[in-house]
Amino acid sequence: MAKTRPGKRDLESYTIRSTNKVVRAGDCVLMKSSEPDKRPYVARVEKIESDTGGNVMVKVRWYYRPEEASGGRRQFHGAKELFLSDHYDIQSAYTIEGKCIVHSFKDYTKLEDVGAEDYYSRFEYKAATKEFTPDRVAVYCKCEMPYNPDDLMIQCDDCKDWFHPGCVKLTTAQAKQLSNYLCDECSPEQNGKDSSGQVASKRRRT
Ligand SMILES: [Zn+2]
Ligand SMILES: [Zn+2]
Repeated sequence: MAKTRPGKRDLESYTIRSTNKVVRAGDCVLMKSSEPDKRPYVARVEKIESDTGGNVMVKVRWYYRPEEASGGRRQFHGAKELFLSDHYDIQSAYTIEGKCIVHSFKDYTKLEDVGAEDYYSRFEYKAATKEFTPDRVAVYCKCEMPYNPDDLMIQCDDCKDWFHPGCVKLTTAQAKQLSNYLCDECSPEQNGKDSSGQVASKRRRT
C-alpha cells in the first residue's frame, strides 16, 4: 500500500467527469493520451488522493500495449492484449476517460462477446529490463505459436492440440462447420469424419 504524501488526503473514489462512473483503487481505467487521436492509455488505479488545492490525483500502474514493449507486436498478440508493467505514475484524475476490464487470459477466452471495454493480460513486463513474466508460454498448432485469442482454432479430439485452419489446409468457413476434427497425426488415413471434437471461435463485438 502506497503512503499518503504530505499535504495529500486519501480519497475512497473518484467520479469520472461528465459521467456517473465511479473509480476506486484496483479498477482499470482508460486515460487520455497526450497525443491527439491516439488510443487511450490503460492503467490500474493504485491509489486516489486529493492535494491541498483540491486536485484529484491518481497513482496508476500502466499496462503496455505490445507496440510499446520490447519486441513490438507479434503475430500471437491479440488486439486486446496488454502487459502489466512495473511502471508507476501519478496522474491527474482529470485524464481518466472511462473504465475498462483487464481480464486474465483464461477469463478472456471464455467471454461470450468481447466488448470495447474488455482487455486481457497474460504477461507482466519490466519496462527497465524489458523482461516478460512468464518468459515462456504454451505453443499450439504445427506453427508452434502461442494462442492468439482473436484467431479461430480447432481442437483435435485425440491429442487435444489446437490448430489454425490455414495451417491444416482448411478454410475458416470449413473449420467453423466442423463438429469433429482429428489432426493429421491422429487421423488414420482417409479418416477425419467420425470423431467428436470442438470448434472454438470468438466473436468480436464492433
Ligand atoms: Zn498454426
Ligand atoms: Zn491430434
